[in-house]
Amino acid sequence: MAGRIQRWRAVFVHSVAATAMCSVALPASGQGPVGPSASARQVDSAYTAKIKEFLQDPRITTELVDHLPSSSTVPTPLRFHGRIVGTPGELTYAKDIHRYFEALDNASPRAKYWTIGKTEEGREMVVLVIADSTTIANLEQFKGDIAALSDPRKTSEAEAKRLIGTTKPMYWLTSGIHSPETGGPEMLQELAYRLIVEETPFIQQIRNNIITFITPVIEVDGREKQVDTYYYNKKLPPGAARLPLMYWGKYVAHDNNRDGMGQFLSLTKNVNDFFLQWKPQVMHDLHESVTYLYSSTGTGPYNDAIDPITVTEWWMMAQVDVQELTKRGVPGVWTYGFYDGWTPNYMFFAAHTKNAIGRFYEVQSYGPDNYEVRPPATTTSREWFRPNPPLPYIKWGPRNNTNIQQSAVLFSLKHFADNKSLYLENYWIKNKRAVERGKSGAGPFAWVIPATQRRKADAADAVNELRKQGLEVHTANTAFTVGSLEVKPGDYIVRGDQPYRTLADMYFSIQNYSPSNPSPYDDTGWTFQYMRNVALLPVSDKRILDQAMTAVTAKVHAAGGIAGAGAVLIVDHTTDNNLMKFRTTHAGVRMQAAEADFEAAGRSFRAGAFIIPAADRAKLEPTLKELGLSGVAVAAAPAVKLHDLDLPRIGYIHAWQRTQDEGWVRAALDSYGVPYTYFADIKLRDGKLRAKYDVIIYPSVGGSAQSHVAGLIKSGSTPLPYKKSPATPNLGANDSADDIRGGLGIEGLTELYKFVQAGGTLIVEGSTTTIFPAYNLTSGITVESPAGLFARGTILRGVVIDRTSPLAYGFDAQMPVYFNQDPVLSVAGSVGLFAGGGGGRGSALSQNITPNAVPLRISPWTFGASDSTGTAMPAGGRGAPAGPATAAGSAQSGRGVTGGTGAAAGAAAGANTVGGSVFGGATGIDGSRPRVIMQFPANAGDMLLSGTLANGEGLANRAQLIDAPVGKGHVVMFAIRPFWRWQTQGTYFLGFNAILNWNDLDAGR
Ligand SMILES: [Zn+2]
Repeated sequence: MAGRIQRWRAVFVHSVAATAMCSVALPASGQGPVGPSASARQVDSAYTAKIKEFLQDPRITTELVDHLPSSSTVPTPLRFHGRIVGTPGELTYAKDIHRYFEALDNASPRAKYWTIGKTEEGREMVVLVIADSTTIANLEQFKGDIAALSDPRKTSEAEAKRLIGTTKPMYWLTSGIHSPETGGPEMLQELAYRLIVEETPFIQQIRNNIITFITPVIEVDGREKQVDTYYYNKKLPPGAARLPLMYWGKYVAHDNNRDGMGQFLSLTKNVNDFFLQWKPQVMHDLHESVTYLYSSTGTGPYNDAIDPITVTEWWMMAQVDVQELTKRGVPGVWTYGFYDGWTPNYMFFAAHTKNAIGRFYEVQSYGPDNYEVRPPATTTSREWFRPNPPLPYIKWGPRNNTNIQQSAVLFSLKHFADNKSLYLENYWIKNKRAVERGKSGAGPFAWVIPATQRRKADAADAVNELRKQGLEVHTANTAFTVGSLEVKPGDYIVRGDQPYRTLADMYFSIQNYSPSNPSPYDDTGWTFQYMRNVALLPVSDKRILDQAMTAVTAKVHAAGGIAGAGAVLIVDHTTDNNLMKFRTTHAGVRMQAAEADFEAAGRSFRAGAFIIPAADRAKLEPTLKELGLSGVAVAAAPAVKLHDLDLPRIGYIHAWQRTQDEGWVRAALDSYGVPYTYFADIKLRDGKLRAKYDVIIYPSVGGSAQSHVAGLIKSGSTPLPYKKSPATPNLGANDSADDIRGGLGIEGLTELYKFVQAGGTLIVEGSTTTIFPAYNLTSGITVESPAGLFARGTILRGVVIDRTSPLAYGFDAQMPVYFNQDPVLSVAGSVGLFAGGGGGRGSALSQNITPNAVPLRISPWTFGASDSTGTAMPAGGRGAPAGPATAAGSAQSGRGVTGGTGAAAGAAAGANTVGGSVFGGATGIDGSRPRVIMQFPANAGDMLLSGTLANGEGLANRAQLIDAPVGKGHVVMFAIRPFWRWQTQGTYFLGFNAILNWNDLDAGR
C-alpha cells in the first residue's frame, strides 16, 4: 500500500513542481546568472540518503524537502554537527544551533547573524536573517522602508505606493518557546541552509523577494535543560521513572507564552524590542502539540481589536498550507479547530498589537525517538476544516516532523514572496486605518492616565510599560477640559491617532466573551487598567487631539518626596507596589502601620498608612522621590493605634510536581525587593519551620489537595535526582534535590500545620488554598464546585467586606480581581447553594454560529467612585440591600444573611464539596472564626467587569480572601489570584499586606 502511494506521489509531485517552475518569474536582483537547471540537481547525496533512511512514512514528504542541495562553501547540518536534522534519538543544544547559525553567516553573504538579548540565566537569544546578498548588504535601507510604511503620519500615499512596489516585506520565524516541543529549532537549521544554498526557482523566489528572519530558540534556558533531561533519561534502564522537565526559564514554564501583555520575562522583552526595531509583517511561531500539522486560524472568537484584514490574512495563509500539502498527498494538515484568537497574552501578539500578522503551527512531536501515532476518532474524522484528516495509524519520527513543517513553512514563505505587494499594501492600509480610527472613527480619540491619581506610582509604571511596548504617550502642557474630564498639566495622554493604537484598543477595551462560543483557550478578560487598578479614561471628545501636549521620551516617575516638617514621617497607604520596595529598601528602619483612618496635617490618611517615628529625612526622601511616593512630615505621631511593620523571614515553597506558575509570585517578590528562602515541598518534612520562618508562601501548583500531598509518585526504588552534574550541566539553577518524588506527604503537611499553630502566617492562593480545608485543618471553610459555573480567566468585582483587616489596608471598598474558575470558597459551612443554570454554555445539540450576537451584560466599573465607606453596586437588579458592604465588621453574620438564600431545596445538585462541613459552622475547635476579608457580590449581575461569566450565582457572596486563624497563627487564603502572571499589579498589595502585617493580622478584628 505504501509503495503504491509512493509511486503515484512521485509522478504527481513531479508535475506540480514542473508547473511551479514554469509559472515563477525568474528574479533579476543581484544574484548573477544563476539558472535553475544548473544547480537544482546538485544534491548532497549523503545527506539526502539519510533523509530517506530516517523518514518513517513515505507520505510525509514533498519535493521541497526530500533532498538537500550541496554546497562547497556553506556547511550542511551534517557537516557541522555530524548528523542530519531529523536524526532519531538526538537533540541539539541551543548553543550549538547558534554556533551553526554563526557559521552560516561566516560562510555566506546571504545570511547575517546577531544576538538580540540575554535570558535571565545569561544565555543569548539570536537571529539569523536570510535574503539575497544585495539585500543583506542593504538591510538598513529595507528597515527604513518598512518603518515608513508603518507610519502614515510621516509617509505620503505616493511614497507608500512606491515602497509597496519596490521594497521587501519581512517574515520572522521563531521556535523553541516551549522547551519540550523540540522539532522547530532542529528544522530551522535545515531550512536556513536550504534558503541560503538552493538554486531552484522556488527558493530563489523566496530569497530574492522577502527578508526572512529566524530565531530558532526563544526559550534558550529551557532548551538546554530539555536536552540535558532527554539525554539523562535516555541512559536510564527500561521501566525506571523518567525525569520530567522541571524548570524552563528562571520563572515560568509553558506560561512563557502568556507574557505578551505583561512582558516581564527577558525573552518577551527581547522579542518585543526586536519587533519594534524591524517591524516584520509576519511573525510565525512553531509549536508541537497536535496531529500532524495545524496552521493557525482558530475557532474564534477573534480578538476585537485585530483589523479584519489580518483575519483574512490568517485564513489565506493557512489555506495555502492546507492546500499545498494536501495536493501532494500529505495527510493531516488542517486549520481552525484549535485555539481561539482571543487573548493578547501570547508572544506572537507582538505582531498583532503592531498591525502585523501573528501566526503559528502546531506539529506532531519531533520525539526525537521514532514512535507510532494512533489518534482517536475525534482527531481522524473528516471535518470541513480537515478535508484530509490524520490517519488512524502512522509511524512517526523526527524526520516526519522536519519534513512536514519545513514544507509548510516553505509554502508560506513562497506565498508571501509571490504576494509581497499585497501583504505590504495590506500592512500599509492597516497602519493607516489605525491612525484614522483615532481621527474620524467612533473613538476613543485618546485615553488619559491622570498623573496624580491615588496610585500614581503604579500609573507611572503602567505608562512606562506601554511605551516600552511601542505606544506613544504625551503629557498635557496645560489644564483643559474635554467632555466631563478635567485634564491637568502633566497628565498622560495616549493619542488615538497613532499606528499602534491597535495595542491601546486591545489592552484598554472591556472584553465580552459570550459563553456560547467554543471553550476559551486561555483568559477571557485582561483589561489593562482593571488588572493594574489604575485610572485610564477613554476620551470621546475629538478636541483632545488639538490640545498642547509634549511627547514622553524617557522613563517617567510619579512626583514624590516629603512635604512639611517634623520628626515623624507619614506615607499614605495607596497600594502602590513601590511602597513594598520602600519598606524593603529600608528594612532596618522602624516603620509602623496605622490601624484606622486618621487626619494629620490637614489631610486624611487611610488605615495602613506607614508611620515612621524619628525619620531620617536625608535617607528616606531620595527613596520616596525615586519610587514616586509622597510622605508628609509632622511633629508628632497621629493619635491612632499603631503596630510595627515587621519584615518577616519568608519561606517560599515550590512543588516538584509542577513548576509552571509559581514563578509569577517570585516575579513580584523579586521586583519589589522581598527576600525569601526558596525550597521544595519535600523539604517541609525536615520540620522546625517556625524556628526558621515567620511567613511561608505556598503559591498555586494546580491539581487537587491530595495531589499536592502525594507529589510525584514514588514507585520503585530508583531516586529521581534533579541537579547539576557533568551529564546535566544546565539543571539545578533554581533548586536541586537528590530525589524529587513524594510531595508534601502527610508529614510535611503536619509540619506546615504546626508552623501555623505556633504563630506563623501561611499564604496560599489558587490550588494550595484547598489543602487545609480538604484535610480539615481549618474550620468552617468549604470548597465548592458550583454546577454550571463558567468563569474562565475573567475579571470580576472584588468587594472588601472587612476594611479593618490589615490585608485590606490602602484599598478601596471594591476593586477588579482576576478569578479563574476555582477555588470557590464558602465560609460558615453553607453547602451547594446553587442549583446550576441548566447549560449556560449552550446545548451540544443546538448549533450557534453567531455566538457574539448576544453579548453578556457587563457590570460598569468607575475608577475613584469607590470610597472609604463602601460603594453601592451599580444599578441592575440587585437584590436585598443586606449586601457585603454592610457586613463589614461582622463577616459571619453578613454571610449568614446573604448566603442563606436558597440553602434549602436540595439545591446541591451537581455541587461537590470538600472539608469544612464536618464542623457544621464557622467556629473552629479553638473557638476562632475565619475572617472573610473580600468576597464576590451578592448578585451575579454585579460580578462581571471584563471577560466571561455564566451561572455566577454560584459565586454569590463566596469568599475571595480569607484570614483563617489556626492556633496562634494565620492562613491567608486567596481564591482570587493576586499575582496572576505579570498583569494583576492592582492586587499585588493584598499579598504584600499579608507579608508586612503577618504578626498583626488580628488588628481590627
Ligand atoms: Zn507550544
